[in-house]
This record gives sequence, structure tokens and C-alpha cells, in this order.
Amino acid sequence: MCGIVGYTGSKKCRDILMGGLKRLEYRGYDSSGIAVMNGNMGNDGAGSKCKIMVAKEAGKINILEDKIENFKMDGDCGIGHTRWATHGEPTKVNAHPHLEGSGRIAVVHNGIIENYVELREELEKKGHSFISDTDTEVLPHLLEEYKDGSLIQAMRKVLKKVKGSGAIVAISSDRPGELVGARIFSPLIVGISPEGNFIASDIPAVLE
Ligand code: GLU
Repeated sequence: MCGIVGYTGSKKCRDILMGGLKRLEYRGYDSSGIAVMNGNMGNDGAGSKCKIMVAKEAGKINILEDKIENFKMDGDCGIGHTRWATHGEPTKVNAHPHLEGSGRIAVVHNGIIENYVELREELEKKGHSFISDTDTEVLPHLLEEYKDGSLIQAMRKVLKKVKGSGAIVAISSDRPGELVGARIFSPLIVGISPEGNFIASDIPAVLE
């Protein structure tokens, strides 16, 4: 069960997420990744100009860190993950965050989705395409299926469908600045500060 960190606030989140992931390294991991919501809310106030940028790599966090050094990831809301593979090899494609088809929803998850095979088959019949071998990838696709304007409502519906354990955090470019977290038996903590709010699988991630 690996590491999750999320931030939303007034600061640029890329380095905050990377710092949080480094403080979760003690849990062990085989790959890592971050997703950052870039851009602004747009004229409709609903994120029409927002785009989720994802970077992930197999291996140590410093490989990801070197990769993103020159990436334009200047958003103030994002999620990060260190993975310990349970379903699918420890590769870049299988690393989290995972996206649904249009790239507007990103998810990190630790733990296991036990009924992912049935869920994936159901989703494929509805036209969803999968690119990884993970159990986790059903989550962004399910959120997309249940999206009705509210990511929280969609997450509630997803939790009724999935069997398993773990913690899940999602962002959607239709909901700028919003982090939605859920936990099934596993811990997930929330940190509130004047400069921003955090969500993490363990306290060290937000200690600083
Ligand atoms: N089951 C998920 C995967 O294999 C999450 C593993 C973890 O806890 O890092 O991608």
C-alpha cells in the first residue's frame, strides 16, 4: 500500500507534491507520478481552460524529478503517488495517476480493487479504452461514467460499485481547485492551512 499526496491552495503545487512523495518514500515503492491542474477557470468558471498535466516514471523519485525539471506544471492543485504494484508490472504506463479517456479526470489510488475485471469489461462494452494493466484504471473511467457535474457525487457512486480496499484521490479539470478523496478501510488524512489544504495517505507527507 503506497503513498498518496494532494494539494490545493494558493501555491504552485508541483514541488509540494514532490516533497510529500519524498517523505513517503519510507513506505517503499516501484514508480511515481504526479498530475497537476494547469491553467485557469475560464470564462464559464468551470475550468474550460484547465488541463491536467501528468508525469510519471518507473523507478526512483529522482528519475521523475529530473524529468519534470523543465516541465511547465504551474498549477496550484494536484495529486501525487508512489506505487507498489499489485496489478500490472512496475512500468511507466502502469504508474499512477491514471486518466480517463478525455484526460479530464485523474486518479491516484493505493490498495486493491478486487472486482476490477468485471468493472473493466462493463466499461469496455460502453466504449471505454484502457491503456494499463492496473486495477486502478477503472476508477477514472467509472468517475467519468457517473459524472453529473459533481465529482463528489460521482465518487460516492463509484464507492458503491467497487469492492476492495485503499484510498483514492481524484481531480477533474471541470472542477478547478477541487480534490476529492475517499477511503475504504485505509487511512487518508486531511491537512488544513491558510496557504492551502492537503490530503495524504500518511502524516509525514504534510508535516512540513
Ligand atoms: N493496486 C494498484 C496498482 O497496482 C495500487 C498499488 C499501490 O498501493 O501502490 O497500481
